[in-house]
Amino acid sequence: MADPAPRQMVSCPYNKSHQLEHYRMHIHLQKCRKQHLNCNKVTCPFDSTHVVNDVELDYHVSVCPKREMLDSQMYVMDNDYRPAVEVQPPPVVTYEENWDDFNTTSYIPDPAKKGSHIITKIRGATPSERRKARMQGIANFKPLE
Ligand SMILES: [Zn+2]
Ligand SMILES: [Zn+2]
Repeated sequence: MADPAPRQMVSCPYNKSHQLEHYRMHIHLQKCRKQHLNCNKVTCPFDSTHVVNDVELDYHVSVCPKREMLDSQMYVMDNDYRPAVEVQPPPVVTYEENWDDFNTTSYIPDPAKKGSHIITKIRGATPSERRKARMQGIANFKPLE
């Protein structure tokens, strides 16, 4: 498990329960293909001489040598057309000291001790349930000190 990349498991396009290590897939496909002789044939989008069963196309595209060539060409093009990104300086933060505010404590919400000044509204309850909850909330209501 230390290095999962070379042993990445992929599922066979003919049968998802066939789990194989990626590098063994092409060997497996030669065998599995013989059980699926009536598959539609499709042409590789990167090379018209590559004819594969349509279910294998995704796998083929992932390993197609022509795609790797195209990828490297596209990468160069992408570099050429990439717009220059302006580097923004970090915003300047000025810290103002407040000498008047000695007694600040951070507010720590405690869900177990919901403030008694809050009357809960129940969504989706029947009118009588809502009324009961409202009356209970009013009974427990205490104004903020
Ligand atoms: Zn298979
Ligand atoms: Zn191909």
